[in-house]
Amino acid sequence: MTNQRQIIQRQTTLRKPIHCAGVGVHSNVGVSLTMLPAPADTGIRFHRTDLGANAVIAAHADNVIDTTLCTVLGAKGFSGALRVATVEHLMAALAGAGIDNATLEIDGPEVPVMDGSSAPFVFLLECAGTQMLNAPRRGIQVLEEIRVDEGNRMARILPADRFSLSCTIEFDHALIGNQSVGFDYDGNFSSELSRARTFCMEDDVLKMRAAGLALGGSLDNAVVFSNDSVLNEGGLRYQDEPARHKALDLFGDLTLAGAPIIGRVETFRAGHAMNHRLVTALLENTAAWRMVDMVEHDVLEDMPIAAAGGGA
Ligand SMILES: [Zn+2]
Repeated sequence: MTNQRQIIQRQTTLRKPIHCAGVGVHSNVGVSLTMLPAPADTGIRFHRTDLGANAVIAAHADNVIDTTLCTVLGAKGFSGALRVATVEHLMAALAGAGIDNATLEIDGPEVPVMDGSSAPFVFLLECAGTQMLNAPRRGIQVLEEIRVDEGNRMARILPADRFSLSCTIEFDHALIGNQSVGFDYDGNFSSELSRARTFCMEDDVLKMRAAGLALGGSLDNAVVFSNDSVLNEGGLRYQDEPARHKALDLFGDLTLAGAPIIGRVETFRAGHAMNHRLVTALLENTAAWRMVDMVEHDVLEDMPIAAAGGGA
């Protein structure tokens, strides 16, 4: 007769520093990004090295200052200059790789867009490797439904014993239409979501440029749809690439809760603004969740009852 003992997950960081460079999709500013290991309970934080030693922002929903087209972190009261835009694809890659703690040094105002997906960051994190830390991984266990609505957009989190998400989009476009994508605790972020690129309509590119946005955008870092075709050579990476990218964005935005969410997340026609409202609503409703040590679901260690002291 055996008793199954739960294995507590441990926090992680990078095994070694890793570096990349590129341009910001909205700012078109060239930036250099170095990801560094960090001790347990640091969380993920950005350090704007061009603004001095104290220019550090925690990757947390409390520090979100804009959600127009991308998620922007900033420190209120730091002369307005301390901001880091388009954090979501990098944050999704870190979560997908199971990295809890890292310092992300960046010397400009926006994370490099790379190819418009999370795949280049996933590759970098695989190169860096993962280091286990001697501290339990804590998660946000959802106890009650949290829901936000805005017109025909909806986002909610439901209690569940593991993380999962479902993301539904609706675009009045022949090649997009209605698409739904699910991703869960056992999912492979690298293969299922990470390669999905950001996307836009050909008409919107001109409008965004006029508004001073997407200045660094090109067919190298976004899927561009005309009225009836995909303008990128090579077409789509997944048949439902737009929904997968929205799921990637959601996965990245959810990390700004500050710890992994144990619950089921569902969104309908949502974007960064709704994702942020959902995370904020969750964190503000402190009766709707509690922090718990996260346990391994798949590794249960059999041990004799006698050795466990006869405990239940
Ligand atoms: Zn995105």
